[in-house]
Amino acid sequence: GRKFFVGGNWKCNGTTEEVKKIVTTLNEAEVPSEDDVEVVVSPPFVFLPIVKTLLRSDFSIAAQNCWVRKGGAFTGEISVEMLLNLGVPWVILGHSERRLVLNESNDFVGDKVAYAVDQGLNVIACVGETLEQRESGSTMAVVASQTKSIAERVSSWSNIVLAYEPVWAIGTGKVATPSQAQQVHLELRKWLNDNAGAQVAASTRIIYGGSVNGANCKELAMQPDVDGFLVGGASLKPEFVDIIKSAT
Ligand code: 13P
Repeated sequence: GRKFFVGGNWKCNGTTEEVKKIVTTLNEAEVPSEDDVEVVVSPPFVFLPIVKTLLRSDFSIAAQNCWVRKGGAFTGEISVEMLLNLGVPWVILGHSERRLVLNESNDFVGDKVAYAVDQGLNVIACVGETLEQRESGSTMAVVASQTKSIAERVSSWSNIVLAYEPVWAIGTGKVATPSQAQQVHLELRKWLNDNAGAQVAASTRIIYGGSVNGANCKELAMQPDVDGFLVGGASLKPEFVDIIKSAT
């Protein structure tokens, strides 16, 4: 089976005091065992060391981005090597906020995923369509081409979690319905089957992101091809614990 995966993407939020408070809440929470749920929180780069130090050992941490190849003269970037040196096992790549606001192309995201995986990082790779793309019927074409840019560059999917995050659902309170999410997740799994093989399709976690909260997570989690969540806003709040609990 695919172990349920709950990621908390803190985005560009938080002060040291707020970060400590969130970590304290998580550390005191009673959640299902590590055998049943994998929990990864993703603070901004500058808070990775403090979160790593303070966070309970059954939860892990992710960076929200990284440089596309070996570090060097790239002002303002953070390299894969630095994350590994710091003991950060995960990175989120291809988030729509980076694709759309920072103009990251499918090829660039694919290059980043391949480099990070090759160096030994685990990757949460994000795909998702805009509202215009959904309304014009191109959802599957969009997420397939985003996934293809990754698939054609990686030799293994074993350290990749695929996050389906429809852009229209992110930060809007307009969560995808369980059947909308299930439909795209199933299509993505079929795509993996046809393009990366049956084993990859069966074992890769496909998680949903976009306005997930403590109230809507349970029904989404019941969908057969929804293997977890990538949570934004609600991951900064105590209800993130309820989302973790939806694993069982
Ligand atoms: P929200 O949960 O705030 O909609 O954000 C989702 C997201 O972008 C997670 O990466």
